[in-house]
Amino acid sequence: MRNYLKHYINGEWVESTGNETEEVINPATEEVIGTISLGTKEDLDKAVQAARDAFPSFSKTPKEERIKLLENIAAEYENRKEEIIETITAELGSPKSISENVHYMMGYNHFSQAAESLRDFSFIEDRGGHTVMKDSVGVSGLITPWNFPTNQISTKIASAFAAGSPVVAKPAELTPFAAIILTEIFDKVGVPKGAFNLVNGSGSVIGDGISSHPDIDFVSFTGSGAVGQKIMQNASERIANVALELGGKSPLVVLEDADVENAARAAVSHIATNSGQVCSAATRVLVPSSMKDSFEEAIKKVLPEFPVGDPQGDNHIGPLVSQKQWNTVQSYIEKGQEEGATLLVGGTGKPEGLDKGYYAKPTVFTNVNNDMVIAQEEIFGPVTCLITYDTIEEAIEISNDVKYGLAGYVFGEDEQTLAKVASSIRAGRVKINDAEADFAAPFGGYKQSGIGREWGDYGIEEYLEVKTVLGYPKM
Ligand code: NDP
Repeated sequence: MRNYLKHYINGEWVESTGNETEEVINPATEEVIGTISLGTKEDLDKAVQAARDAFPSFSKTPKEERIKLLENIAAEYENRKEEIIETITAELGSPKSISENVHYMMGYNHFSQAAESLRDFSFIEDRGGHTVMKDSVGVSGLITPWNFPTNQISTKIASAFAAGSPVVAKPAELTPFAAIILTEIFDKVGVPKGAFNLVNGSGSVIGDGISSHPDIDFVSFTGSGAVGQKIMQNASERIANVALELGGKSPLVVLEDADVENAARAAVSHIATNSGQVCSAATRVLVPSSMKDSFEEAIKKVLPEFPVGDPQGDNHIGPLVSQKQWNTVQSYIEKGQEEGATLLVGGTGKPEGLDKGYYAKPTVFTNVNNDMVIAQEEIFGPVTCLITYDTIEEAIEISNDVKYGLAGYVFGEDEQTLAKVASSIRAGRVKINDAEADFAAPFGGYKQSGIGREWGDYGIEEYLEVKTVLGYPKM
């Protein structure tokens, strides 16, 4: 049992001022695996005060010291590898291979990338007539979701530390344990007192408290659009800056000259990895009408490469995070059928033999019209839609005909067409074929997918204010 009933404030594990606790459930077994304390506004105030007190010195630490700090965090993170993998599998239900190759690695990459980006980062720039300086933004409040327990919190903390911003973090109640390991890592490597504070608790108390706190200068949030909107409203009361990484309904455009089987494999892998609970997942697959039949056959052929089952085994797809998320996904599958889309594979209910655990069937709808609810709303589960198109212009139009703009994917051979489609998709990140991941590349959304960019030097910029000095002495 993991019982973590303390918050981390001003460099110490401290008792909560309240008595409320929350049980954490393993979504594969539906059993309780631990308990956390639900923090109070008083706990939050103490954490914000600690961060405020840390600000004058932390924001002025030499760059070299902050690089070393990030490197030490990355090294200690490596030391905790097995525990991080095991914890993410237990709290999120992600198969061990995904916990290792995706979740563990993303956390590691953000800390080491931040150290790397900081090395080349300039906080002062002589621009001929004037000087531009970059100052830490102040105290940052970080609110993160359950779907990537190390990725989102690590990119935010790594960038904040690189910029010299003390933070108060609140992870999601559903998956709080990975953040507790991170906190132990910070404690071990000697993150300065007050520069990192962790308050566990509900979104309605601690999350809302962060976004409305008068002493928090900047709020970085990842999660749903509805909560993102509330955070902006709260922050607007004191004109505080926000960064929002919200949802997506990203297109995967298959071109006429694409390898059908590879593209079908990519389409399935988007809804298989993390059980489709990925903001940047492609969940609308745009296929030339002439390729419809062969693409559908290819989907059926590659599907068995992504078995669903016990995350402790060799499966690729684990359960969804919670009963609530399972119910949401089921209602979207029902909705798709009501709307007249055709089930190519999958459907409602649990996969055969998996009665316990929040498992859903990988589901591919075909004959989908882009106006349907299943093509417009983020489902956050293993569900995708096949939509046909006749011309490249039509494919681009359908790609952009959605309120989101987080990511896009293009598969094909002809470089001119790939470039045309990639540059026309209105989204913050577009991937062509199997291009490799790059943690220095900015990540964030257009339209209702959010505001701001994370990762690498763009991520560091979010935690900085820009100051112009006219007549600064040349030294
Ligand atoms: P939420 O947006 O509710 O949760 C994300 C984080 O915000 C959690 O830490 C949550 O706390 C916190 N939170 C909740 N309410 C508030 C509030 N009023 N003020 C400040 N913080 C708050 O997402 P859900 O977990 O409810 O998921 C719902 C849907 O959102 C998903 O189905 C998916 O479509 C989308 N989503 C998108 C994500 C992305 O990566 N873009 C990530 C997660 C979800 P707590 O949960 O502890 O109460």
